[in-house]
Amino acid sequence: MIKVVKFGGSSLASAEQFKKVGDIIKADPARKYAVPSAPGKRYSADTKVTDMLYKCYSVASKGGEYKPLLDEIKARYNEIIQGLGLDLSLDKEFATIETSFVGRAGRDYAASRGEYLNGIVLANYLGYEFIDAAEVIYFDDNGNFDLDTTEPLLKEKLSNIEHAVIPGFYGSMPNDTIKTFSRGGSDITGSIVARAVDADLYENWTDVSGFLIADPRVIPDSKVITTITYKELRELSYMGASVLHEDAIFPVRAKGIPINIKNTNAPEDPGTLIVESTSIKPEYTITGIAGKKGFATITIEKAMMNSEVGFGRKVLEEFEKYGVTFEHMPSGIDTMTVVVNQENFAKKEQEILAGIHRNTHPDSIDIETDIALLAIVGRGMKSTRGTAGRIFSALAHKHVNVKMIDQGSSELNIIVGVEEAEFKDAIEAIYDIFVNTQI
Ligand code: ASP
Repeated sequence: MIKVVKFGGSSLASAEQFKKVGDIIKADPARKYAVPSAPGKRYSADTKVTDMLYKCYSVASKGGEYKPLLDEIKARYNEIIQGLGLDLSLDKEFATIETSFVGRAGRDYAASRGEYLNGIVLANYLGYEFIDAAEVIYFDDNGNFDLDTTEPLLKEKLSNIEHAVIPGFYGSMPNDTIKTFSRGGSDITGSIVARAVDADLYENWTDVSGFLIADPRVIPDSKVITTITYKELRELSYMGASVLHEDAIFPVRAKGIPINIKNTNAPEDPGTLIVESTSIKPEYTITGIAGKKGFATITIEKAMMNSEVGFGRKVLEEFEKYGVTFEHMPSGIDTMTVVVNQENFAKKEQEILAGIHRNTHPDSIDIETDIALLAIVGRGMKSTRGTAGRIFSALAHKHVNVKMIDQGSSELNIIVGVEEAEFKDAIEAIYDIFVNTQI
């Protein structure tokens, strides 16, 4: 049994947190490979080491007074090293970092040092081998992750090593410079390592006990999702639920390796298990609710629209021409509605509207703004009758006016558009009917 464990920034923000991580890793011999983030926030007003590095580099590369900023970063690591009682000095590493900053080694290089240094500390603390991600994670010339080069090399390297720490977030470009993934990218490194060693499980340790059914800012005591499929997760992440980097799914998914989101501060909690498919029936008909504000709808009306060949294409062409993607497109017999991101649309609004007029000669075009979209997601919906009925009666009881409805053909989700002002009420109503009352 092999588990790859990734620890997020808040799990490694202080010596105290490091100790919890050490206990977790040592509690299960299967936890052979660890992927750390850089030290994150110790308290809510704190600054992540990654952000400190970006700032320090920006000052240093412009010839500014960077030393105090670098000293603060050193102090963060020294506090951890001392708190753990380690016989370790990062002076040599910091000297190299300083020279490279002044020599403008790049923003990505700068940011990557957070994980690099934390990897050295964690490896020292655990007595595991340290493997620099620059030697095993590769990007191609376009800056995209290069699986074909990475996988055999990483596999080969780890095949001879019983226990290792591989820092997250970065790798090498073909010209040997350092490149990082986008923010939160240590999740991706963990997934790549799990895939390379054919892990049985990829544990992603963070500071929450898994994905919540609804956003805790709306439902403060929301229940945790115990099991979720990759597809459901994709729907929820797209609509704003964030715990895991979106790109972290792809490497493990192809090999059927489940991901377990776990809480470093409550290791006994089961967390959320993310799987390809499952026979486990969800506890509730819905798996989760997520939503986003900031949409606009453009409704085009024209008598006999349905018999006009190419009408939809002509409308969408105008959006395409100006680089505005559409989110949904519910239609009636003589109407079609295009749901778009309001901000993107506003930039090209008049050009797009003029184009639609010219191309399709509609009877009218109606625009509504400040729309929120809600995705109600659940693999259980397919086999349950009346889900849509329950959603809409709950919304009606709460006096929420539904502006748009779209059920994906996979029957995995129902998208509802409401006014932004009714967003919170809508989520509360749906959570209440499916989770609290469970009727
Ligand atoms: N430390 C990086 C960040 O703050 C990457 C990560 O934590 O995954 O985004």
